[in-house]
Amino acid sequence: MSINKNLALARPEIRALQPYQHADWAPQLERMHANEMPWRAGGDSSCPGLNRYPEPQPKALIAHLANLYGVAAEQVLAGRGSDEGIDLLVRAFCRAGQDSILICPPTFGMYKVSACIQGAGVIEAPLRRERNFMLETAAVLAAWRESVKLVFVCSPNNPTGNAVDRRSIEILCERLDGKSLVVVDEAYVEFARATPITAADGMVTSPHAASVTTLLERHTNLVVLRTLSKAYALAGARCGALLAHPAIIALLARVITPYALPTQTVDTVLSYTDGRHRDEAAQRIDVVLSERARLSEQLARLPQIRKVWPSEANFLLVDCEDAAAVLDIAAGAGLIIRDTRSQPGLDGSLRISVGTPQQNDRLLRALARAGGIDTRLFERSAEPAARRARVQRTTRETDITIEVDLDREGATEINTGLGFFDHMLEQIARHGGFSMQLRCKGDLHIDEHHTIEDCALALGQALKTALGDKRGIHRYGFVLPMDEALAQVAIDLSGRPYCVFEGHFGRDQVGQLPTELVPHFFRSLSEALGAAINIKVEGDNTHHMIEACFKGLGRTLRQAIRITDTQLPSTKGML
Ligand SMILES: *Cc1c(COP(=O)(O)O)cnc(C)c1O
Repeated sequence: MSINKNLALARPEIRALQPYQHADWAPQLERMHANEMPWRAGGDSSCPGLNRYPEPQPKALIAHLANLYGVAAEQVLAGRGSDEGIDLLVRAFCRAGQDSILICPPTFGMYKVSACIQGAGVIEAPLRRERNFMLETAAVLAAWRESVKLVFVCSPNNPTGNAVDRRSIEILCERLDGKSLVVVDEAYVEFARATPITAADGMVTSPHAASVTTLLERHTNLVVLRTLSKAYALAGARCGALLAHPAIIALLARVITPYALPTQTVDTVLSYTDGRHRDEAAQRIDVVLSERARLSEQLARLPQIRKVWPSEANFLLVDCEDAAAVLDIAAGAGLIIRDTRSQPGLDGSLRISVGTPQQNDRLLRALARAGGIDTRLFERSAEPAARRARVQRTTRETDITIEVDLDREGATEINTGLGFFDHMLEQIARHGGFSMQLRCKGDLHIDEHHTIEDCALALGQALKTALGDKRGIHRYGFVLPMDEALAQVAIDLSGRPYCVFEGHFGRDQVGQLPTELVPHFFRSLSEALGAAINIKVEGDNTHHMIEACFKGLGRTLRQAIRITDTQLPSTKGML
């Protein structure tokens, strides 16, 4: 559609606005027209001098940003961070008390704040956790109303870290043409995977491949926000760019504060984004990406972390068992991470910015130490992380040390003081094809309950730590017959803790093991491992039935562990 209908979305008083007349910028003439002092302040060596008002939308800066983002100079408005771009859009397009913006929470907080300051309404089309926080265009279009002038889409999204696919942006632009501007905030796009762009002559990937700026040509209602604050390490300089159709840029340029960009900011941006600095920024981004992968993999092994969300940005969203405790542990290590618990759908989640390798180590070690995990496992190495774990778990009732090595068979040594239970744990290791050493000193003089429960918790934690971030398919099942008994065991490693146990034992006790504690064992294991475990068992002989459950669990784990093997980096892509 033509630009006019999209331009007509702006407030009528802004479209009719007589803008402030800047003192003309005429570098060839000496200035006696702006009521400036004719001398510089002592020590001022800046160009053109801090006594002079800066050029509004400096040509050199605009040309530079246009080049950086692969657009024409007329498509660029520079401002004090992309925050200023958000604010300008809301002020220029939303009438107080009448118009509104549409956002997809959980998302960046400034959209709503800007709307509230302006007195504009806020319509929400929430991202759903069960859809992995994916943008759902149908939900956005369903929530859209006549009053909505701006639809804000954050990609990659802060704080969930996922990027919106290009096709969804195109659909929104097409369907909302002449109805709303679609504002895509790409504050983190430099950290996102470049998706190949299909060109007439095949697939090409450009430096802007992950960005939707190339859609600006086709969609006059698209606005893209970029910033130098994140990938270019210039948050303190306060500079961002709003990219849009030239008519929208011209409209917003009338609304922006006169002389918006300080002389020092312009100088800083020009000197810190030249070729040499761009190379440096690219190298730093590479480090962030490899640290993001490492941090994600290692956080997933920790007892305090339920889930690490995939990220295309320079931060990770994590679901915690107890977010307040994680904040405390981080603070104890001298680190502050972002509390995102007040956002819809994120009540147990925190956002961790990827730090230097040393800072990331400090956080991982502090969490490992607090969780009773051997901190040596979190040392950096070029090798794929060893699939081992050592967990020390001490409470008033039990004192447990357990080591597992998923890549070594045999070497199993178990001593809990309960002969039959030792025998059952051995079945898990032997049929699972991994080694396990477990020592437990429990309060058996009281009863067996604590020993059995705490061994299950320690085993679950050790397996979780050793498995790391479990990629791929995570559902396995095994049916194990044992004489007249039959156990059916299914496990979903990626699932939330959940346990179903169906079966009735004829006897109350086998050896020193009270049979009522068998379902309890699997429930505790499921909780600590972060897995859904489903067991059905039938038979006549209680001993056989219990043994079939433990062996079946071992067999199921064996499959899970072996499939993870084929996903080690050397054979990646073979599944
Ligand atoms: C950090 C951030 C911004 C702010 O960027 P500035 O250019 O520093 O104002 C904008 N959008 C999102 C999503 C951000 O996370």
